[in-house]
Amino acid sequence: MTGGSPLIVGNWKMNGTQSTLSELDAIEAEGAHRRVKVVICPPATLIATAAAVAKEIEIGAQDCHAGNGVAFTGKLSPAMLFDAGARWVIVGHSECRACAGETDDTVREKAERALEAGLAVIVCVGEPKEARDRGRENAVVLSQLTASIPTLAGAALTIAYEPIWAIGTGMTPTSTQIEHMHALIRRALIDLYGAAGQSLPILYGGSANGSNAAQLLSIAGVGGLLVGGASLSAESFLPIVQAAAARREQQLCSVTSRRIKNEIN
Ligand code: PEP
Repeated sequence: MTGGSPLIVGNWKMNGTQSTLSELDAIEAEGAHRRVKVVICPPATLIATAAAVAKEIEIGAQDCHAGNGVAFTGKLSPAMLFDAGARWVIVGHSECRACAGETDDTVREKAERALEAGLAVIVCVGEPKEARDRGRENAVVLSQLTASIPTLAGAALTIAYEPIWAIGTGMTPTSTQIEHMHALIRRALIDLYGAAGQSLPILYGGSANGSNAAQLLSIAGVGGLLVGGASLSAESFLPIVQAAAARREQQLCSVTSRRIKNEIN
């Protein structure tokens, strides 16, 4: 995990009605979210109410359209999402790339428009199973990354590495594979953005849950988690937030003990 507070993002996908919003109350009542950063991305129908219900958890959208104020029936612009109360947006999720035939260029345009509208942007990248089986995962992820992220670095940009074969399957890459991919993404961000690329969070996503969150968050370079299925209820999401809070405490303790040692020596 990198130096900052871990970021835990819940993606509710096509789930949730007004009554589901009580999960937000239950998460906030427990309190661990205050020690990390928690974002929930409900379906668009719930953004405004979720933003009104949530006191500290930030609300995000699961997608946006790159156009603004023009004729796109059924689509939502970043400005409209911001107006509804979203402060984050996920773009380039593999389900959108696959179902909507989204290209890297479209993802980049969405990310750029969303940043302009004041939203923090999470750009998803990740390889399909065949690419990993053929040892092509680095090439696939790097090409997706460089073509999907905004040309100019912005502090409000986050990358989520989500191997497609790990989403909703109960499978996860090994710690070494995750560490390797996060290091590769970090190097590419620095190559593209210079020093600004050093601090952008890189999340891991794909079958994260309460049982594996602590281990995933302990992997070098993992700045947080993007969580699908396990974010749908406070019961399954809270252990993940608690694992992130515990990881943050560990980090802070080791920084403090290093400082004390330096002062003594
Ligand atoms: C996702 O959809 O982004 C995701 C990570 O899903 P899950 O956690 O269910 O694998």
